[in-house]
Amino acid sequence: MKAENVMSVRATLEALRQGDITSYDLTKACLKRMEALDGSLHAFLTPTPELALRQADEADRKYAAWRQDPSQELPPLLGLPMAVKDVLAQAGVRCTCGSKILENFIPPYTATSVERLIRAGIVTVGKTNTDEFAMGSSTENSAYGPTRNPWNPERVPGGSSGGSAAAVAARMVPAALGTDTGGSVRQPAAFCGVTGLKTTYGRISRYGLVAYGSSLDTVGVLAQSAEDISLILPHMAGRDPRDATSMDLPAPTIDLEKASVKGLRVGVPKEYFIEGIQTEVAQGVRAAIETLRQLGAEIKEISLPNTEYALPVYYLIAPAEASANLARYDGIRFGPREEGERMWEMFFNTRGKRFGAEVKRRIMLGTYALSAGYYDAYYGQAQKVRTLIKHDFESAFSEVDVIAAPVAPTTAFRIGQHSGSPLEMYLEDIFTLPANLAGVPGIAFPVGFDSQGLPVSMQLMGPHFREDLLLRSAHAYQQATDYHFQSPELA
Ligand code: GLN
Repeated sequence: MKAENVMSVRATLEALRQGDITSYDLTKACLKRMEALDGSLHAFLTPTPELALRQADEADRKYAAWRQDPSQELPPLLGLPMAVKDVLAQAGVRCTCGSKILENFIPPYTATSVERLIRAGIVTVGKTNTDEFAMGSSTENSAYGPTRNPWNPERVPGGSSGGSAAAVAARMVPAALGTDTGGSVRQPAAFCGVTGLKTTYGRISRYGLVAYGSSLDTVGVLAQSAEDISLILPHMAGRDPRDATSMDLPAPTIDLEKASVKGLRVGVPKEYFIEGIQTEVAQGVRAAIETLRQLGAEIKEISLPNTEYALPVYYLIAPAEASANLARYDGIRFGPREEGERMWEMFFNTRGKRFGAEVKRRIMLGTYALSAGYYDAYYGQAQKVRTLIKHDFESAFSEVDVIAAPVAPTTAFRIGQHSGSPLEMYLEDIFTLPANLAGVPGIAFPVGFDSQGLPVSMQLMGPHFREDLLLRSAHAYQQATDYHFQSPELA
């Protein structure tokens, strides 16, 4: 086996265990590909080649020891190269959140999700590009410049986990971590033609995930296939005393042997096939639903009647929480400082010069929505409607097992296409926001291509803590199709 091609997670782990390849060679191959492609794609903000090679060396030593004494326990992901979105802290590695306000911030601690994967044996090759503080749908809001879509460099990779999605799509790494507050794992996965899982709120600790909308933020995984994600997820999940919202549930066991959609009740919400959606997206998703039917699923039209309120509700709650969360960046606690005569001038200069336009917009929106006299009318009202959206899902899941829908109304749009209009950009999130408001898991995976050769993807949403159901359903689909194997041609 050759190290030139970055393989699936499963193939990689098998090859490592068989001794067909070393983690060192594999990591070198990933780093080489990053070096060759990232000048044009810009998926990474901070590559960490030395650290990666040290970790790989260590992994190879553990494999060697295990070969001497196979009774030793082998960390389950030993030697697997992965990339990490730059809103997840990793001790000793610069964490910018795509913002100039954290340009030189080196966290002294590691996010629980990352730490658990490192304990499980992964090799970390670097931090990936993101919209500033994960606010965006295209990675164009990164203060360090956009990431480009590997399928077409004139197109966005989606966002905010656009760097992670592009890195997996360009086969720089077998898998990457992302975060999803309103779609940021699923939508970039969809635009880049990879598989992306947004977990249930509470499934994975948020400790060390730089807070955006605390009641919405989740950690997710991007990889080539549902099978690959199922190999990674169990090693991150579970209770963490450092995050009071993490649930004390056993790690999900995902038995793909039995993966089948026979008898699976798939709900198709009529509110998700609306006017304005790109025809090829609607057609592609409908065709994928038909494939599920042929594989034995029962398809049922359902209604999620409050879907139309998801967008305004999200764009009140997320900025409100963001405005509180981002108050901590003041030139004292984290990152660089812009001096001023008086303390408030120093705050003003630091925040004024170092936050980008979208972040400022959201802080103003959120502060306004939380201000005395407006709180009940905006934030309070949004919370009530959020409860109705949650009820929509609860009643749907009393009728069906999973919900099938598009991920976004379009395929990857052109860089700059929505830059002039925040509202246009927010509309891209219409199909992903509801799952975050309800806290349920969702998975995005490729189901075809549009006439421009850009990936078309489908989303499955499931009941709380049923990631197993989503992964098994997506796996059954991927067993019958080969869209997830397709990768862009890159020089
Ligand atoms: N696009 C949405 C936003 O800008 C969601 C981002 C996310 O999930 N982090 O808020």
